[in-house]
Amino acid sequence: MILEIVKYGEPVLRQKGAKIENVTSEIKNLIADMFETMEANHGVGLAAQQIGRALQLTVIDVRAAQKDRPSTLEIDGQPAELDHLMPLVLINPMVKPAAEPVAGSEGCLSFPEIFGEITRPESVDVSALDAKGKPISFRCGGLLARAVQHETDHLNGILFIDRMERKVKAEIQEELDVLQAVTKEKLKKAKTKN
Ligand code: ZN
Repeated sequence: MILEIVKYGEPVLRQKGAKIENVTSEIKNLIADMFETMEANHGVGLAAQQIGRALQLTVIDVRAAQKDRPSTLEIDGQPAELDHLMPLVLINPMVKPAAEPVAGSEGCLSFPEIFGEITRPESVDVSALDAKGKPISFRCGGLLARAVQHETDHLNGILFIDRMERKVKAEIQEELDVLQAVTKEKLKKAKTKN
């Protein structure tokens, strides 16, 4: 089922996700819906907060972007194919920097049509549980590292605009204000209807 994506201005985007102790059938269904929603919106990643649930759960698939914005993957210190891990589900992820920061363009499905340059470590070490609740760990670089960091931020209530340099954010401030106002208006209308 394709779910509605929560836009900037909704409080759930600022909530830290609860840890998932068991991968229940409800969580499995949620994962399937999140992949369907991400694909329908041509995203490379989607966090639970973006479909209105404050949980430590995100889905990622960067394979379609491999030509334009490549990713690297290492498992147990050995280079691995992206197919080995993708489509990727991360539950309760922990991320540690493994290289110097680099600048790169980023967007977010909760901020339609808004893009900005963000500086993040070029590669990271990741440990998490997979879709079956099994522990996984890997090192990744390029777009995958960026996506993992962007999505893990979501799980902690942090948005990509928080990571922008003041100058970059100033350039899109007007668009942000408009988006936030539209979202708040929509929320108000939904409330009076109930
Ligand atoms: Zn995002």
